[in-house]
Amino acid sequence: MKKKAVALISGGLDSILAAKVVMDQGFDIIGLYCTSAFSKSYGNEQETHAVKVSRALGIDLRIFDMGQEYIELVRRPAHGYGKNTNPCIDCKIFMLKKARAIMDELGSPFVVTGEVLGQRPMSQRRDTLQVIERDADMRGLIMRPLSAKLLPPTKAELAGQIDREKLLSISGRSRNVQLRLAERYGIRGYSAPAGGCLLTDKNFSAKLRDLFEDKVAIDPNDIRLLTVGRHFRIDTGVKIVVGRDNAENNVLLSLAPYGYHLFMPHDFSGPVALLSGTPTPGLKQAVGRLMITYSKQTPGRTRRIQFADEVFDPGDPLPISMAGMKRVGADS
Ligand code: SF4
Repeated sequence: MKKKAVALISGGLDSILAAKVVMDQGFDIIGLYCTSAFSKSYGNEQETHAVKVSRALGIDLRIFDMGQEYIELVRRPAHGYGKNTNPCIDCKIFMLKKARAIMDELGSPFVVTGEVLGQRPMSQRRDTLQVIERDADMRGLIMRPLSAKLLPPTKAELAGQIDREKLLSISGRSRNVQLRLAERYGIRGYSAPAGGCLLTDKNFSAKLRDLFEDKVAIDPNDIRLLTVGRHFRIDTGVKIVVGRDNAENNVLLSLAPYGYHLFMPHDFSGPVALLSGTPTPGLKQAVGRLMITYSKQTPGRTRRIQFADEVFDPGDPLPISMAGMKRVGADS
C-alpha cells in the first residue's frame, strides 16, 4: 500500500509544488483546502484553482469550511495582523490543526505545506515558522519541501521515511525557481499568491474593521455584504449600502432578508440600497437621496423610492459630506 501524506492546498503554486515534490517520493496526497467567509470563492469551492489543479494531479482533495470559529479568530488574532486584516500566523495554525486531525486519522507521518522561508515578511520568517509549529502542536511534523534543506529535519526525514536530499532549498521572495519547476511538472491553472483571500485587500479590511467595531455577532452574510456596494456608516448599528451595478444590486437583493431594510428605485433606473438600523423618516430620506446621488440625473424627472409598501420622493441628491455620514472603504 502506498504511503499517505496530508497537504494544505490553497490552489497557489507553492502549495501544489510542495505536494508534487512529496508525491515524487512515492506518497499519495490527501489535500486539504480550507475555505471561509473571507475566501473570494466562498460557496463556489468546486470552481477553485485548488479543486481543478488537484484533480489534474490526482490529489484527493477535502474541503473544510473554517466556519464561525475562524470569523472569531480574525476578530482577535493572538499573533496580530499582517498589512491589512490578514492574521496569517493564526490562520496557518488553525489550518494545521485541522490537517493534523486528518494526519492522525490516516496515520500519515507529516503534513505538507507550501511555505517558503523568507517569502512573506510576517508568516514565513524562520522564527515564525517555529512559532507556527509550536502553537499548532506539530513540532517536527510539518514538512515544507520547498525550503526543507534550509530548515531543521522533520521527524520523517530523521526516520528515513522521506529522502531529505530530494527536497528543495528555496528561500526568499523571488519565484523564479517555482516557475521553472511548474514548467517542468507541467503545472498550470494555479492562483496568484494570497489571491483568494479578502483579508489581504485594503478596502475590504477597512470595511471589516468598521464591522468589527460595530457588531458583536457576525455571520457570513455580514461579510458577503462587505464585498459589494458603497458603504456609509451613519452611527453605531446604522449603515447604508448602495449598489454600484446590476450584479451588486442582485447581491443586495439576495442579502436583504438577513436583517436589512431594502430600498428600490420605483420609477427610475438606479441602485438598490440596504439599511441596517431602524428606518426612521430621516434615515429613509437619507437612503433615498443617496440612491438618487448614484443614479443617472434626468432634469425635471421625479425619482421615487420604494420602501416596503411605501413609495416616497426623497428630494434632492445627498452630498456625501453630509454631517455624520462616513464613507467606509473605497471603490476597489
Ligand atoms: S493570506 Fe489569508 S488565507 Fe492566506 S494565510 Fe493569510 S489570512 Fe490565511
